[in-house]
Amino acid sequence: MRLLLLAPPGAGKGTQGERLAARYGVRHIAAGDLLRAEAQAGGRLGREIAAHQARGDLVPDQVVLDVLTPAVVDAAARGGYILDGFPRTLAQATAAAQIAARLGVTLQAAVYMHAPDTVLTRRLLDRASEGGRSDDRADVIRHRLEVFAETTGLLVPYYSERGILVAVNADQPPDSVTADIQSGLSGLSLARP
Ligand code: ADP
Repeated sequence: MRLLLLAPPGAGKGTQGERLAARYGVRHIAAGDLLRAEAQAGGRLGREIAAHQARGDLVPDQVVLDVLTPAVVDAAARGGYILDGFPRTLAQATAAAQIAARLGVTLQAAVYMHAPDTVLTRRLLDRASEGGRSDDRADVIRHRLEVFAETTGLLVPYYSERGILVAVNADQPPDSVTADIQSGLSGLSLARP
């Protein structure tokens, strides 16, 4: 199983990513987590990543590719992956597709999880009040949602044109979202576990 979760902040891609990874027995690769770990490690690269993340800006494509590619290639060799938050730009998608084609492991499905901005904002602010991430602040959340609409959203038609897009309403309880993803994937006639 090689699947991408494409979703604005707060849609629940972390939760669904973990569930799908467990179900299909593949690695859950969360771009934000890998980049935060790199930021924690410090150094010049770490500081650059941290600065972008704190503002809610996308980390530059080349940095993201350097951090993510080894994990994706390794997981592909071990049966697949659930990608959560990568690719997030058209340039990343093109680069990832080229690498995947070279390795003979192209993406099988892109799951687009959508919900109204009001719902997403409320979820992120709730997470913040429970001691969540430093980018879960009203102004940064607004900016992250804009970045999604302006940049990452372009990947929705990109994967739709390639016939692998599954759109799911993320404004539902987690179990319902999981069920909708499963039925969307079976509609793509992918192998089931
Ligand atoms: P969310 O989807 O809620 O914003 P993530 O943990 O997926 O949470 O991402 C947090 C931050 O990490 C983003 O705002 C961005 O700065 C950075 N990031 C994650 N994935 C990417 C990516 N593929 N390209 C560029 N930046 C990324």
